[in-house]
This record gives sequence, C-alpha cells and structure tokens, in this order.
Amino acid sequence: MKRILLLLLVVVLVGLGALYVSFLPETLPVDATPKVLIRSANPPAEMRLYAIEAGKMMSQAAFAYRGGKFTEPRVFGMGGILIEHPKGNLLFDTGFGKDVDTHFKTIPALMRATSKYEKEPTVAEQLQKSGIALSELKAVILTHAHWDHVSGLADLPGVPVWVNDQERSFIKYGDDATSLIRGFGDLNYRVYNFPSGPYLGFNKSYDVFADGSVVLVPASGHTPGSIIAFITLPGDKRYALIGDLAWQAEGISLPAEKPWVSRQLVDWDEKRVRELIVHMHQLQAAIPGLVIVPAHDRRVWDSLPKLGSRD
Ligand SMILES: [Zn+2]
Repeated sequence: MKRILLLLLVVVLVGLGALYVSFLPETLPVDATPKVLIRSANPPAEMRLYAIEAGKMMSQAAFAYRGGKFTEPRVFGMGGILIEHPKGNLLFDTGFGKDVDTHFKTIPALMRATSKYEKEPTVAEQLQKSGIALSELKAVILTHAHWDHVSGLADLPGVPVWVNDQERSFIKYGDDATSLIRGFGDLNYRVYNFPSGPYLGFNKSYDVFADGSVVLVPASGHTPGSIIAFITLPGDKRYALIGDLAWQAEGISLPAEKPWVSRQLVDWDEKRVRELIVHMHQLQAAIPGLVIVPAHDRRVWDSLPKLGSRD
C-alpha cells in the first residue's frame, strides 16, 4: 500500500513538474529571414481602419505565451476592426454581442471556470452611434469562428458573413469551439476562395478589392480555416490582423507559442501554428512599420484609430 501511495506521489510530482516547465520561457527557432516579395498596394485615399473595442477578458501573460508571467495581468480585448473602403466596408470579427451572458454559457466548462469577462458597448451599438447602417457593411469577415469572435454576429442580422471552405466545414461539423455560431443557424454565409496567387510567402490569397489594400491569406492552424488579413492604408501603412495565431504581441515578437495548457484548449494544429508564428515574426522583420494585430492584445488595439474618433 505504501509503495502504491509513493508511486502515486511521484507521478503527481512529475506531472506538476512538467506543467511548470510548460510555462517556462522558450522561443521558437527562427531561420534567416527568407526573401519575400513585398507587393505595392494602391489603396484609395478615403480608405480608413478603425478599432471597435467590444468586451474584455481578464487573464495573465503566462497563459498567452511561453515565458509570460503569472504575476502580470493582461486584458484580452474583444472587438472588431472596421475597414472603410469606397467599394464597401468590411468588419473583421465582432467581439462580444449584447447576448454575451448567454453566449458565455456555451463555452467549455474549464474555460468558463478560468475566465472572467467584462462588457463594453457592442460593435452594433458603436456602428449605430457613428451613423453607419448595417446595410453599409459589405461583409463581416471572420478571422476564425470561435465564440469570442462571433458573439456580436447576432446583433448584425442580414450582413453577409464571409468564411472560406475549411472554416465553413468547421462551423458545420466542428467541435464545441464552434457550437455558438452553429447555434445561430442559417446566417447569410458567403464562401470565398483564394484566387489571387502567392502573397508575402503564403501560397495563395484573396485580394478583396483588387487594389492590394485588403488581402486575405489562408492561415490554417488555430482553426482549420483561420485567416490572416493584410491591410494597406494610404501612405503604405501596413497591418496584419492575425486573429488568434498569438494572443498577445510577444507571441510574434519573441517569437513564442502559447503554453501547453492554452494550446490544448484552443489550437487545432499546434505545429502549423508554430510555423505561422515564425513566418509572421520574419515578416515583421522584413516589412518596416508592419503593425501586427493579435485579436486579443488590448495594448495594440489601444494604439489603433478608434471608431469614436472618426469625423
Ligand atoms: Zn479568440
């Protein structure tokens, strides 16, 4: 009996030790930056980008990237990025909607138990306040279909929801991670492809307005149909909306993946996520001034123009 207890104790201690190690700093190996062709873009002068902050979750840096501290609180922001373009306005993701209290109950129990959230005015409310009608939105484009990116869709009835084939299947047949959007039923889905050829080291892309200002690339990893959106504003100001490839900027700048626990909870293909993190790290070095925008790094969002400041 004593022996069994001792063995059990050893197993528990080894497990705790492994868990501890999984949070320790470890950066991903990076090869020399490959040559990438940086295409010039021709964005219209009226084009703008606005951050619409819509909800927060409270967490610690330790859960966002290897080496982050447990003693360092981090706000995980929610929200949408609005692109105003004369050929149609695009909204990337939606943040928390007005029914977030109900939506929160649909997420896995472990996540619910370890998360606290706060509401902010929803994307729909902020659009209305700024005088932007839903009919002026050409599309909501999802970086991916997890609950915290789609909660606000319920407040945007009728607006076309753009997803690629892989994410559409993930919504239809996926696991708990897409149960919220699946529960929304028959949204105004438009499935898009990537017909526009290689872009910044990705083998295919979708140049939405054919002017290089908004280019979507497939970034399967966090979810099967995750994307990255490259936005180029007048003056060659460049942004990469990377969704949840990394939760906080250090994920790309170090580069460091999410710790093991977080990866098990949210990432669909860890290996692909690692490859993409390294690729984005290399692009950050290759493109001066490129602003990497993780969907949940509130510090980065706070540095972007806000919808409330629009004239
Ligand atoms: Zn997310």
